[in-house]
Amino acid sequence: MPTPSCLACGQTEQDVPLVRIRFRGTEHWICTRHLPVLIHDPQRLADRFPGADGLEGAEHRDHH
Ligand SMILES: [Zn+2]
Repeated sequence: MPTPSCLACGQTEQDVPLVRIRFRGTEHWICTRHLPVLIHDPQRLADRFPGADGLEGAEHRDHH
């Protein structure tokens, strides 16, 4: 079991508070600093968080 680390920045629970999330049967961790990114702009995490590109952020935004 790897050390939990933020899926956005890679910091571990030794550095920052981490929040555990589950998505499609997989467990992920994200730090409190990046939790708003997941809420508002999940597509930004798509390369590190498989399936996030299919999520709708809280704020609608056109794809660039
Ligand atoms: Zn982070």
